[in-house]
Amino acid sequence: MKKVLALTLAAVMVLAFAACSAPAEKEVLTMGTNAAFPPYEMVDENNNIIGIDAEIAAAVAEKLDMELEIKDMAFDSLITAVSSGAIDVALAGMTVTEERKEAVNFSDSYATGIQVVIVTEDSAIASIDDLEGKKIGVQSGTTGDIYCSDTPENGGYGEDAVSRYDNGALAVQALLNGQVDCVVIDNEPAKAFVEANEGLKILDTEFAVEDYAAAIAKENTELLDKFNTALSELKAEGKIDEIVGKYIKAE
Ligand code: GLN
Repeated sequence: MKKVLALTLAAVMVLAFAACSAPAEKEVLTMGTNAAFPPYEMVDENNNIIGIDAEIAAAVAEKLDMELEIKDMAFDSLITAVSSGAIDVALAGMTVTEERKEAVNFSDSYATGIQVVIVTEDSAIASIDDLEGKKIGVQSGTTGDIYCSDTPENGGYGEDAVSRYDNGALAVQALLNGQVDCVVIDNEPAKAFVEANEGLKILDTEFAVEDYAAAIAKENTELLDKFNTALSELKAEGKIDEIVGKYIKAE
């Protein structure tokens, strides 16, 4: 009987000790993205979301002693998800624009994007000056969509010229099927799509140069400050360059 009691007591003590020394649950940092935008975000063979944005967010979360959770969603629902608090931050190769700034705050920029034009190798389109009257494929809600669907007075081609797709891969598929004459999209995913599909090329002339940043809810200035501090430390440590260099090989 004594022995049983002693054992029970020992077991209780072990459990109590384990409970005390268990690390406190880390606060979760929820990041939203659209994981069809290589090399910034894509899904690997194990169904994990990887890429530049995922690694930058993981490095920031580590600095903030938070646990990163990534949610995949349509690109054009990210701003609403941020402002409604459904996610804490969006990292999605997202361009800083004046219009988006009305709905969310942006962190300091961590990368540059360039809007480029993908055409088929045999295309008659030689530069962006040839886009008039052509069918243009874009990813819905992106800056490529916003520029191209704008009026000709504002440098666009008008609503009717634009076909919208849920992601870049579908827009590229439409180009391969002959449903559109070109796709306007960011340069790094463009390179990845051209590499993955035969018969495509990127025009030399660029459409626009943009800054990528993380979007955070207007009222969450505390997270914005913490995010920017972590980001600037990571930049100073060379960590951002290291992450980018892992996914984008210098030409
Ligand atoms: N940079 C573009 C934008 O912000 C496209 C981003 C994306 O498709 N993930 O609109």
